[in-house]
Amino acid sequence: MRFVYDFDEDSGGGRELLGGKGIGLAEMTQLGIPVPGGFTITTDACRAYLAAGGEVPAGLDDEVDRHVAGLEERTGKRFGDPDDPLLVSVRSGAAISMPGMMDTVLNLGLNEVSVEGLAETTGNLRFALDSYRRLVQMYGEVVDGVDGHRFEQALSDLKADRGVSQDVDLSGEDLRELVRTFHGIYEEGTGGSFPQDPREQLRRAYRAVFESWKAPRAQVYRRTYDIPDDLGTAVNVVQMVFGNRGDRSGTGVCFTRDPATGERVLFGEFLLNAQGEDVVAGIRTPEPIARMRELLPDAYDQLVDTLDHLEGHYRDVQDIEFTVEEGTLYLLQTRTGKRTAAAALRIAAEMVDEGLISREEAVARIDPGQLDQLLHPRIDPDAHYEVAARGLNASPGAAVGAIVLDADTAEARGREGEDVILVRWETTPDDIHGLVQARGVLTAHGGMTSHAAVVARGMGKPCVAGCEGLAIDMAAGTVTIGGHELRAGDVISIDGANGSVIVGAVPLVPPAIDENFGTILAWADDLRRLRVRANADTPADAAKAREFGAEGIGLCRTEHMFMSDERLPVVREMILAREEDERRAALDRLLPLQQGDFEGIFEAMAGLPVTIRLLDPPLHEFLPSLEEATSDAMRDRIRQLHEANPMLGTRGCRLGLQFPEIYEMQVRAIVRAARAVAERTGEAPIVEIMHPLVGFREELARLRELTERVAAEEPTVSYLCGTMIELPRAAIRADEIAEEADFFSFGTNDLTQTALGFSRDDAEGKFLTFYLEHGILERNPFEVLDEEGVGDLMRFAVERGRGTKPTIKLGICGEHGGEPRSVAFCHRLGLDYVSCSPYRVPLARLAAAQRYEDAARLRDRLDALERVVEDLAELQRLRRAELCLVVPAEEPGFVRAYAVAGGRVAASRRLPRNGGASVEAGALVAEARGRIAGGPSYAPEAADELLLVAGFVRRPPPELTVLPLDAGRLAAACTGVEPAAWVA
Ligand code: PEP
Ligand code: MG
Repeated sequence: MRFVYDFDEDSGGGRELLGGKGIGLAEMTQLGIPVPGGFTITTDACRAYLAAGGEVPAGLDDEVDRHVAGLEERTGKRFGDPDDPLLVSVRSGAAISMPGMMDTVLNLGLNEVSVEGLAETTGNLRFALDSYRRLVQMYGEVVDGVDGHRFEQALSDLKADRGVSQDVDLSGEDLRELVRTFHGIYEEGTGGSFPQDPREQLRRAYRAVFESWKAPRAQVYRRTYDIPDDLGTAVNVVQMVFGNRGDRSGTGVCFTRDPATGERVLFGEFLLNAQGEDVVAGIRTPEPIARMRELLPDAYDQLVDTLDHLEGHYRDVQDIEFTVEEGTLYLLQTRTGKRTAAAALRIAAEMVDEGLISREEAVARIDPGQLDQLLHPRIDPDAHYEVAARGLNASPGAAVGAIVLDADTAEARGREGEDVILVRWETTPDDIHGLVQARGVLTAHGGMTSHAAVVARGMGKPCVAGCEGLAIDMAAGTVTIGGHELRAGDVISIDGANGSVIVGAVPLVPPAIDENFGTILAWADDLRRLRVRANADTPADAAKAREFGAEGIGLCRTEHMFMSDERLPVVREMILAREEDERRAALDRLLPLQQGDFEGIFEAMAGLPVTIRLLDPPLHEFLPSLEEATSDAMRDRIRQLHEANPMLGTRGCRLGLQFPEIYEMQVRAIVRAARAVAERTGEAPIVEIMHPLVGFREELARLRELTERVAAEEPTVSYLCGTMIELPRAAIRADEIAEEADFFSFGTNDLTQTALGFSRDDAEGKFLTFYLEHGILERNPFEVLDEEGVGDLMRFAVERGRGTKPTIKLGICGEHGGEPRSVAFCHRLGLDYVSCSPYRVPLARLAAAQRYEDAARLRDRLDALERVVEDLAELQRLRRAELCLVVPAEEPGFVRAYAVAGGRVAASRRLPRNGGASVEAGALVAEARGRIAGGPSYAPEAADELLLVAGFVRRPPPELTVLPLDAGRLAAACTGVEPAAWVA
């Protein structure tokens, strides 16, 4: 097996094999772009090294030696040459960029002898010695773990002794002394002398780079950015070129377009007669790239041409590093340029106009999560500030305001135009009026689906929830935030995008929405199948949602309508009533108010469906606390309604069944409102009445009967009657429930709570944080849908619900309906729509279109896939296959898939692969058989890994992948068509 490729060789392995930096260097070399000579040691080598517990795979050192010899040949320079030595850099480069996380060694190849040669050929003793001392320092730190501060200290001491402040002010002789000192530090740190043999330097350096894959900071980075742990890094060995060889040399970095605005101009920095490290170390300040045109016009023109070439080739913005050595331009790196959300939109839209990319690609390139940046005020990216405490990033956007500790004050002062932030232990529906007037919300308790979080997201207000560093003393009117003692009225800032809380005011910048945003979303709308609705409870929210492109309301929570000042007393009267008559009298007074609410919403959503959910929360939420109760009767009733676990108590349809008059009033108000709006506007609203928390068919049957009975008493209005699916039982018995339902809407907030047994109010502030920090769970299931657990329940419900009623309408209205990954899952599941907070509607529109694009692209490659599906589907039909194994095949560039039945390989097929590990097949097959003999073992994540079967490698295969055999899912994952259409 081969582990090393020169830049001008075709490895056939792509980014997975060569890493991001390596593939860039190889592709540039092959495009004829000037790149220094060199080669890449593959990620296969790193993985083999790590798998063997730190043993270099057999043959690697020899292979590297041969490639060094080739490099010597091409450059005409030799490693360790006393006259004109070959010097190389050794740089890490994983498939997914992990900037600064792993190690690099520069100037490798220098020793006591060749440093003199370098001084000689460059005519620059200072430069040669400075390069050498950098090597000893970097090598000492990276390869031998010598404390870097000791080197830095020695350099500072020397400068102090010589009375100079800059490195460049040290003379050649000073540097000679520094090299000696560094050697001493190295010897003390390692117990041996600095290796003089360049080949030994190189061998130890790439081992160190392999090792750096395991460094704690790299592990943390991977966890943070969801990068698999088994990728490994490639190592690039690149001939050194020097930008510090005089006034015809220099170094710089450059983007092909402005990464902040997206404007099509070169954007970058340049420094004459300097090395990249000078810029990084802040020793010298670079100048705008335009300066290079004046200083090195020829190299500048060549750079411009090269960048055009690169952008045309990659069809995306490139971020490059370059060096000019005595007039000759070299590119050292190219990668896709990171950009702001605004720039991403402009670049994508303009590249379509320029004919560089298609609309589908433009849509696919925007990160929906990043769009959030554009829809809310943000902290000025140039501001400096200190974060006092952190909580959950519950609703994006930033806010600055005075601390207010109760909702009434927030309302009063907010109305007067003051910027206030409501700071609470947690919020309840009682606080809604304060939330409306506050700039943002900060809570000490509660998670991503807590009241504060849900309501704030709905309103598009920033919210930091579950901030453990926050303590509130209501009586004293003080709060402590991360150790800072503050009083009500003191100003704080919160950033709901990352959960930070700052003492004092920070400058904000307003949301920036431009026409590119609209253009891309319009293209997305043309591409997607999944509809996007909004969760909205008021006409104003409904109108906002429509502005953002919502195609209806998927959830109107009626409880929020009961909370306003004039209604709450009537609601309380209704709850406190001992007799039904009394309760009905209060409800009669609420009816016209509810009808008014619904009329407003129907009008705002004219022509689009509106799902109204009947009352859901436990009644005690509408009552004051025991201490605040104003009468004995109230205290009695509060005690009576008290439940140890109200989330699993008398709420949802249980409430509606026990107190039918509440739901009757609501149904009547809905039907009357629909009629009134139809008469007024000439257009009948599209009404969907939804019953919450149903678990048994009988519950819904009775509520449907109630709904139909009341509706029949009123003027004729057509409507659908359906239910939320919020309980595992409802998902599992969806076939029965579907008999009573015209639609299902997945309430994944409660479904997550009930399926996982995680309290949605407590988990995030408590053990869930621990789970996430310790890697027990990868993601917060209240934020990103738990596809394997909750998602499987949904799959059940979809299959069983449609089994009973093929036309049943299916949607989701839990918070996951606005989360891009979860939206993609809902698309795969074949739902009809997702519903989310108005401010997340644009994100969902985009995410839904991106799934479509994926499926369309994959469908183009179906012929390879179909053959697999045939094999596997047949086995599946016979129900004999238990496993499918995918192992690297004999020929490079192929994998072999084995379907296993009854402990034997029943079928196999050779398939192309796009790169990744190729480990000796014989041994693996033997190992595979051994494993089979030991009983089946399953690895989940079917969708991702099954894509591998067809050679669409999204991540490099581990040495042996064991897959559950499910051809239907394979087909579904690749095509977006549900299994029933595929498996006989
Ligand atoms: C849900 O449970 O997902 C849901 C949308 O309802 P609520 O958040 O109001 O309980
Ligand atoms: Mg719910």
